[in-house]
Amino acid sequence: MNGMMMQSQLILTGIMKHALNNSPDGEIVSITLDNPDFRYSYQQAFERASQLAYALQKLGANKGDRIGTLAWNDHRHFELYYATSCSGLVCHTINPRLFPEQISYIIEHAADRWLFIDPLFMPLIESLATHLGSIQGIVVLTDKAHMPNTTLSNVYCYETLIAAEPSEFHWPELEEESAAALCYTSGTTGNPKGVLYSHRSLMLHTYGVLMPDVFAIRRDEAILPVVPMFHVNAWSIPYAAPAVGAKLVLPGPKMGCGETLSKLIKKESVTIAAGVPTVWLALLKYLRESEETLPSLNRVVVGGSACPWSIMEEFEQKHEVYTHHAWGMTEMSPLGTYNARIPGKLPKEEAQALRLKQGRPGFGVEMRIVDPEGNTLAQDGLAFGALQVRGPWVCERYYRSNESALTEDGWFDTGDVATIDADGYLTITDRTKDVIKSGGEWISSIELENFAMTQAGVAEAAVIGVAHEKWAERPLLIVVPSEGKMVKTEEILASFKGHFANWWIPDDCVIVQEIPHTATGKVSKKDLREAYSDYLWPHEATV
Ligand code: ADP
Repeated sequence: MNGMMMQSQLILTGIMKHALNNSPDGEIVSITLDNPDFRYSYQQAFERASQLAYALQKLGANKGDRIGTLAWNDHRHFELYYATSCSGLVCHTINPRLFPEQISYIIEHAADRWLFIDPLFMPLIESLATHLGSIQGIVVLTDKAHMPNTTLSNVYCYETLIAAEPSEFHWPELEEESAAALCYTSGTTGNPKGVLYSHRSLMLHTYGVLMPDVFAIRRDEAILPVVPMFHVNAWSIPYAAPAVGAKLVLPGPKMGCGETLSKLIKKESVTIAAGVPTVWLALLKYLRESEETLPSLNRVVVGGSACPWSIMEEFEQKHEVYTHHAWGMTEMSPLGTYNARIPGKLPKEEAQALRLKQGRPGFGVEMRIVDPEGNTLAQDGLAFGALQVRGPWVCERYYRSNESALTEDGWFDTGDVATIDADGYLTITDRTKDVIKSGGEWISSIELENFAMTQAGVAEAAVIGVAHEKWAERPLLIVVPSEGKMVKTEEILASFKGHFANWWIPDDCVIVQEIPHTATGKVSKKDLREAYSDYLWPHEATV
């Protein structure tokens, strides 16, 4: 027997309609090159999305066409999110920090029809001109006065394009399974792979992130996504904020700058902000130097890579800001787990250990860990294995691939290695390819890095496996000292004693001024492994 409830489709248009009916005055603030202090209401934003939808129709975009964006977090990118997806097109956000070859691969693979670009990316697109076969034209996200000169043809100005269009588009009744957005993984192994989100998966994910034990954004709040809108839909914040009517603060091209973030948080009374650890390091450094505080800020969400304790501690002790650790991935839209406020009072060390975990699964996400034979392992916080997930916002197959991305029994293998404790807390111990295999046993690079980053004078640390004649691989610690600080390699290595089994302790430590990062701001272990492929252990070097 079927239920007897309405069959309304879960489509993003629903968010737009809800905001128009319930929070038309909700505010969006945005920084762009042509206007460093732009602000308008949800009503105005969605009217302009309507104008853009008409313009896209006139450009000849047809249902299912991919519309590429190379853009920062700003109001025009927000308009694009809704104008494309809600008119039946696919919003394909492209990460401009990828290598140019990866960008042209992605554009060709997605067969994008139109590109909407920030004026800053004109030189990049000009350099890729010979690879833009599928592209019919380029729209520059600016006004007439700020249009860049270009050697390319079929280039349009965004503001001119939408200016004369009506502000009430007749949004189509879409099927909830239809594609809404496309985002490629950064391709740390092999070519980038496209994850094609449906309206339904994005809507359910939006409900998921709004839960009280996840972002818990309220209408009276202001949220700042420092995670880029080209990286997994800025963790869904451009959908979640209008869904509840919260103020959305879009930081524009300079969002890696501590000063910009600090000023924006203060000026707009931001209460919650979300981003990867590196942006928080930049913000905290600026706050330390300027002795400024952030009275409105209540919590930050940190994900994308493991959050060092130093970030959590400094935010809390100096700024009374609670740090929530979260884990997810492009293939999961991205929410996997979230570390909500710990209930009750725990002794300091216990609380610290718990908060460093990646958190508990959001409602809608199932997780398990398995051994190499596929047997499910105990959730005892000790056994570690391949982390697999399933749920309505998890990728089933990659774009343009006929093969399922799932295991035979229907789970998605995340490529992460983890433990899960009896309370459901996940601890990522490594990415499968970063695990250090010493004498047949596994050593977690992340645990060693987390510990190294608690040592005085250490700004950043990475641990990689380096070939070793006896043990196959041994851990090598690479450390970036804090500005103006001296660190002694022997002292850092000695600090591991008593905290880890002896065979886990790195065999050597090297001090560097900089560690390479990927396009999504994570330590690039691949580059580090390449850089240290000829590395000789001290005993080998002296032979
Ligand atoms: P990309 O693969 O493009 O860098 P993703 O955001 O898809 O970007 O990366 C997902 C991966 O990032 C996860 O599989 C995991 O290895 C890592 N990751 C994400 N959040 C965390 C976290 N809080 N702690 C440790 N690793 C994390």
